[in-house]
Amino acid sequence: MQKFDLITEFTEITPSAAIATADHGWKAKCLQRLVRLELPVPGTVALPARTVRMIAAGHPVDAGAILARFGPAPLISVRASPANPDWGGPATILNIGLNAARHQALCETHGETAADALYTRFVQSYAIHVARLDPDMFEDVKPGPGALTEVLRLYAYETDEPFPEDPARQLSEVLRSMARAWEGTSARLLRSAKGAPEDAALGLVVQEMAQGIGQGISGSGVIQFVDSVTGTQRITGRYLGQSQGRDALAAREALYLTRDPRGPSLEDTAPEIMTELIRHGATCRDKLREEMQIEFTIEDGRLSVLDAVRVARSARAGLRIAVALAEDGVISPREAVLRVEPRALSELLHHQVDPRGLRDVIANGIAASPGAATGRLVFSAEAAQGCAARDEDCILVRRETAPEDIRGMHSAVAVLTERGGMTSHAAVIARGLGLPAVVGASDLRLDAKEKRLTARDGRIFREGDVITIDGSRGEALAGAAEMLPPALDESFRQLLSWADEFRDIGVRANADTPADAATARRFDAQGIGLCRTEHMFFEEDRFVVMREMIFADSPADRASALARLLPMQRADFTELFGIMQGLPVCIRLFDPPLHEFLPATREGLRELAEALARPLSEVTRRAEALREVNPMLGMRGVRLGVVLPEIYDMQAQAIFEATIESAKRGAPIVPEVMIPLVSARREVELVKTRIDAVAAMVRTRAKADFDYKLGVMVETPRACLRAGEIAQHAAFLSFGTNDLTQMTYGLSRDDAGRFMNTYVQQGVFPEDPFHILDTDGVGELLLTGAERGRHTRADLKLSICGEHGGDPESIAFCRRAGFDYVSCSPYRVPMARLAAAHLAL
Ligand code: PEP
Ligand code: MG
Repeated sequence: MQKFDLITEFTEITPSAAIATADHGWKAKCLQRLVRLELPVPGTVALPARTVRMIAAGHPVDAGAILARFGPAPLISVRASPANPDWGGPATILNIGLNAARHQALCETHGETAADALYTRFVQSYAIHVARLDPDMFEDVKPGPGALTEVLRLYAYETDEPFPEDPARQLSEVLRSMARAWEGTSARLLRSAKGAPEDAALGLVVQEMAQGIGQGISGSGVIQFVDSVTGTQRITGRYLGQSQGRDALAAREALYLTRDPRGPSLEDTAPEIMTELIRHGATCRDKLREEMQIEFTIEDGRLSVLDAVRVARSARAGLRIAVALAEDGVISPREAVLRVEPRALSELLHHQVDPRGLRDVIANGIAASPGAATGRLVFSAEAAQGCAARDEDCILVRRETAPEDIRGMHSAVAVLTERGGMTSHAAVIARGLGLPAVVGASDLRLDAKEKRLTARDGRIFREGDVITIDGSRGEALAGAAEMLPPALDESFRQLLSWADEFRDIGVRANADTPADAATARRFDAQGIGLCRTEHMFFEEDRFVVMREMIFADSPADRASALARLLPMQRADFTELFGIMQGLPVCIRLFDPPLHEFLPATREGLRELAEALARPLSEVTRRAEALREVNPMLGMRGVRLGVVLPEIYDMQAQAIFEATIESAKRGAPIVPEVMIPLVSARREVELVKTRIDAVAAMVRTRAKADFDYKLGVMVETPRACLRAGEIAQHAAFLSFGTNDLTQMTYGLSRDDAGRFMNTYVQQGVFPEDPFHILDTDGVGELLLTGAERGRHTRADLKLSICGEHGGDPESIAFCRRAGFDYVSCSPYRVPMARLAAAHLAL
């Protein structure tokens, strides 16, 4: 019958054999490369995926013909070779071919102990992986004399037949069981979780055993030439005498390859073999253009290389390896840029929890601001300030943050909130400050009054207890986790400067303060794309002046508050322009959502009354009068500018006077003034008329000239739809996708965290739209706005300045839409630069 044709299709791996990853798998291909490099690889035969599929379907395989390739009475191993190494595969089986006769021969060459150990091991792994017997049945077998007899007896007892003696039968059974294991449901599920396609194929490689057990220097190990965590050049690995396969990795008694305080390292016992390994490592790096981990065996002082795989690496090691390879001319700078995943960069900018250490997770939430920090738990801004005064690191835990907490956030090393999402107050402020933050950690219970936090497993943490916040993974950990410092080294700078040579969309930073601007410059942002001026007043001594202005209910009071604000703003802008040295700076006029500025508690009201020297009752009444049901949709942005135009007048005056001052100091600038939360053309007309008038007034008074650009922040759906007429009065449009997402979905950015996980898990949203731009809905509004705006004005500058500006997929969207630049938090600038380069390559 056709179905049972004997399968004979296999290929011996030689330098010229036709071996392809798609047919034979990555391991077969990799072994062929090693053979071509003349590394001492034992004889190997590759079975293509086609053959393996037929074996799984029941076709018999001509195992005798395979064995014949290895000379008389060989011992061999079979390994999985899927097309992609990440897809896993059935376990390797070693020592196939062992039987009574071969065991006897081994006793003579290698001694009885070694021969017994090898045979016992083979019988056990055959029993478990091929005959599918329960691994527990060998639990009571003691290693040493008698073990072999016992495992052979157990095998015969369980299977009702003696252990197979015929090597051809052993091999064909091994091949069949591995082929079938690949087709099994659990293997399918496992690999599809790792992205393998439904029809992912498995090749198999059959290799002559290099024993690792013998009289002279014998053993096995792995070696690599860079550190997997840091990426620095360093020999690491393990070696275990009298061992096989990857035993050395699992065994505690395995020794280091160089300098081991516990005993002689491989370098001590066999320096010439170490030299040989180092030479092979250099060959692999040069010719395979990658840092490889080499699996090797030594038998009686003779080295064999069994396999070489790409060194597993952390993000920081990945970057350093790519740059080092390019600097050594092994790969091109272009390839180095492409080898580093943009999202991986954010780990390098901050302290990071050492992946090698323990992680005792007490709560999960949204990874709102990357980095990690350890400190004592505090439950209020006052306590955080107290800690800072004592020079103690603290972590501020709040249900959600309010204006009063900003002082506390400044004093803390990290923030944890029970509520909130990617663009909530806590998240935005923490990213701006570069503080690690986890928000929306809804699996913890917070009792601020009792100063107590209950973790998801019921453990209780109190004020003063030490915890760690991992803002990169969205986890809170008990105790002080091991940390890695930021890796903003030369390699990092080099990679990004290569990336800049390729990219074709600008990258600016959202920077509100001189400190932010300095960070933006450090990361080579091409300017400031959004300066949220109300954030310039978040510091404690200034916050009160801002509040005074908001609280003023008579023109005289307001004028007096504005008169105090003017010099502060002028000094701010002068400093900002000085730091940016002529690079563009886009200043957004005030957009203070009132709930971010009004005290939320009685205590806060009392403090405010004190600061303003007003009776508490009056401050309370005014706060009540100002309080809005829905402040995010209330008297914000341009609405404030239209209703109380003197506020924007003051800001415009400060900007223009700073512009003149900057030119005097030798750093001329053309400031960009941006009007927030616009929804109608008339709003722009009203504000523009007044700002032009202020400009004229400043020019006359100072007897100096300057230019400026006026633009509109597009963050309401209506502004997108009416961008055509809005652009009549705007030199640029910048899409504020935080508010635009909030308003398009009708979804509060401060409350979304409460159900976002459920929504994403249930597939309602593919991703958190505050995190990754919703290209279908919000994106359509962006395209409409861009197209209508440019229709009116072909030279209209377009950009995005919402949090999405730092996200690689959103950047791709903006680039396709012909935007001039993206703007994101300073700490996301490097990622944006690299992502933009990837898009252009
Ligand atoms: C926005 O809405 O996208 C934006 C950048 O402004 P803010 O986050 O300050 O509302
Ligand atoms: Mg906004």
